[in-house]
Amino acid sequence: QTELVLMDDTAIRRALTRIAHEILERNKGFEDCVLIGIRTRGIHLARRVAEKIVEIEGANVPIGEVDVTRYRDDRTISAPPHVTALSEEAAALEAGRQSLVVHKKKVILFDDVLYTGRTVRAAMDALMDLGRPQSIQLAVLVDRGHRELPIRPDYVGKNVPTSRMESIEVHLTESDGADQVLITGQ
Ligand code: 5GP
Ligand code: MG
Repeated sequence: QTELVLMDDTAIRRALTRIAHEILERNKGFEDCVLIGIRTRGIHLARRVAEKIVEIEGANVPIGEVDVTRYRDDRTISAPPHVTALSEEAAALEAGRQSLVVHKKKVILFDDVLYTGRTVRAAMDALMDLGRPQSIQLAVLVDRGHRELPIRPDYVGKNVPTSRMESIEVHLTESDGADQVLITGQ
């Protein structure tokens, strides 16, 4: 079993700072934008980019999370998808009507690793069940290739061509005690 460090804490910090700037540039600021993290590590990434946007722009940054664990098309659906407001701004928008978190908003989805694209597809389904976003953009820390759906990221920390035998390990301080991206496998 081989193991190689692809990104250290500095590389991750720089990539997320760049992505924050790219988001602001593409959207000409942060008006009508909302950051939505997918499951655990996507949420950590969304929170970090939100902090940077606050630093750079002083803008209010609504953040939410989407849990699509049981919403993927290759698994049994046993729970409805949900979007949860994580910031006060998002909670205020929500005001008892969940769809307001995404309705007419430019939604920027975050995940740690993009692979086949099925998770992102499920997340988009979940979001669109709740309202009609103005647009959906995708930010990932690592794009490892092997897409099975016509999905591409708008913001990428690092492109890593992988074989299917390999796997990417994403460690983030919030859940793993340190910031590091590794590739493991053959
Ligand atoms: P997909 O649905 O695109 O096939 O896979 C993406 C989802 O599975 C993401 O939520 C991601 O966290 C996880 N995933 C897929 N491949 C990898 C990988 O190599 N490493 C890690 N850490 N997560 C992966
Ligand atoms: Mg994941």
